[in-house]
Amino acid sequence: MTVRVRIAPSPTGDPHVGTAYIALFNYAFAKQQGGQFILRIEDTDQTRSTPESERAILDALRWVGLDWDEGPDVGGPHGPYRQSERMGIYREYAERLVAQGDAFYCFMTADELHAEREAQLAAGEAPRYAGTSLSLSEQDVQHRLAAGEAHVIRMKVPTEGLCVFTDRLRGDVEIPWDQVDMQILLKSDGMPTYHLANVVDDHLMQITHVIRGEEWIPSAPKHQLLYRYFGWDMPELIHMPLLRNPDKSKLSKRKNPTSVLFYQRFGVMAQALLNYLGRMGYSFEDERERFTLDEMIEQFNIDRVSLGGPVFDVDKLLWLNGEWMRSAPQAVLAEAMKTWALNADFFAQVAPLVLPRMRAFSDLFATALPLFSGYPDITAEDFGDTDEQTLAQLQFLLWRLEAPGVWNKPRVEADIKGLAEQMGLKLRAFMPPLFIAICGSKNAVSVMDTMAVIGPDLTRNRLRHAIEVLGGVSKKAAKRLEKQFKALETLDEGAGAP
Ligand code: GLU
Repeated sequence: MTVRVRIAPSPTGDPHVGTAYIALFNYAFAKQQGGQFILRIEDTDQTRSTPESERAILDALRWVGLDWDEGPDVGGPHGPYRQSERMGIYREYAERLVAQGDAFYCFMTADELHAEREAQLAAGEAPRYAGTSLSLSEQDVQHRLAAGEAHVIRMKVPTEGLCVFTDRLRGDVEIPWDQVDMQILLKSDGMPTYHLANVVDDHLMQITHVIRGEEWIPSAPKHQLLYRYFGWDMPELIHMPLLRNPDKSKLSKRKNPTSVLFYQRFGVMAQALLNYLGRMGYSFEDERERFTLDEMIEQFNIDRVSLGGPVFDVDKLLWLNGEWMRSAPQAVLAEAMKTWALNADFFAQVAPLVLPRMRAFSDLFATALPLFSGYPDITAEDFGDTDEQTLAQLQFLLWRLEAPGVWNKPRVEADIKGLAEQMGLKLRAFMPPLFIAICGSKNAVSVMDTMAVIGPDLTRNRLRHAIEVLGGVSKKAAKRLEKQFKALETLDEGAGAP
């Protein structure tokens, strides 16, 4: 049997370090056994999926060096590898389950489901689909279908007993069936849900091992049942421990930069990032800290993954990166720095901003600092007199800039001007704190141009950094600000949301 594994990201945001981490373990597992690594884009959620996000995920995985054998851009014998291009496939499978009696049509409206849920909550029960449509007669179902009534297809799920499935790292895992919902497989618009599309595609793409984050454990009973209903062999399940912030909470962008592109722009070597991700829940027998991808593949043993929540600590990553930089052959380092920012393309973006302020080449570094540095060296005093408004303004802008979409100067400009206007602030008042947050000084190159050049990830993290420098936003304050922000958003339909 050839080992075939996959990474199946949903293109709904920045390429997350968690995606690179799971991709790495899939890759190492496959390559160690002469197997194949497949990239599948799970974009069934058409409202949240964007082509920009897909491109960024592909670029990020390629940049760290995890190339796939089959995928949406390189093709392969089991394509297409983008679920939105496979839409014709899923209905047939859902209908097959209905015909077998393992799934059913459900005609309940959102209001009816809401009322059912309220009644369950009032009775002190955990809310779940109560199986109402299961009692419809065949005749009734046919009648409603013929009348074109909106419906979904749900899978049948036992209401009592225990589901037991095997996870390679955990052994047998038990989940009571009454905690598993009668999952929708096909939505009323004909779109499959993650569960149906994921199982059908893993089967059709001949995936042998599913290595994914442990947040998917609650989905495993549904998947196991679907494999059984279809009469297919289920791939072996391996749920990797989730990455954590140093305070052990789930890794979140509020506490740590989570986008691979941030680390790329910040100037971390791809090999160092991959090396660090390879240490998440994993260690070599000889406990060495620095290793290459080839070294990892050579001795990889998935059974050595430890389940204690691995901490993604930026300081440790930067320490390791320092080690990589110092030990890399100079030619390799020079090449990596060229790819980073010391290249003609980047200079073409920098030159128009810095040249008007330069008298000699020796002015370059001071002038171009905001375009090359990571975080500006700032303190609360640099912002001068601040009030609640300053923090609110930076936080609102951060939320606005977190909305997906293109990233260029017109977008940045529209977001800044739009927000200032909604907040009733003149740009003259709005810009100074932004200059400090992004450029570190009020007397610097254009802040909007800088944001366009340094990109979304570094921009957002400089804003987060500035908010921290100004004392941060407590949970309570965040709630209040979110409300205010939502109110502003309604003034301008179509803008982003937190
Ligand atoms: N699309 C899912 C994700 O975004 C895939 C989960 C899985 O690997 O089954 O992570």
